[in-house]
Amino acid sequence: MSPQARAIPAPQPTPDIQPFYDAAAQGKLLVKKCAACGERHHYPRAICPFCFSDRTEWTEASGRGTVYSFSVMRRVPVPYALAYVTLEEGPTMMTNIVDCDFDAIRVGQKVKVVFKPTEGGPPVPTFTPA
Ligand SMILES: [Zn+2]
Repeated sequence: MSPQARAIPAPQPTPDIQPFYDAAAQGKLLVKKCAACGERHHYPRAICPFCFSDRTEWTEASGRGTVYSFSVMRRVPVPYALAYVTLEEGPTMMTNIVDCDFDAIRVGQKVKVVFKPTEGGPPVPTFTPA
């Protein structure tokens, strides 16, 4: 049985990050790619964390990834699973695993993105077993 859904606080995007949330509202997951070195990264930054180039651009990710690590927060009113998911494209993002039995989550498990509404803000990417 799926646990109760947790209310997610609204993110407060800065102008730099706004395209990420605009895309999320359309069900698309974006990651930044560096035009200089070709590396993709997340969280989105204006400057490439690998080579410090400012030639970063938005690219759409597949939304597929694997669980790198996770922790189930149980000592809160509505338990939730906090995780790092490594995207197919390479970057690892901090996120939540949702819509599943938390006891069944495993490191290395395949997951896919699912966007969840927030309290008065843009939707955020979370992941569910693929
Ligand atoms: Zn770079």
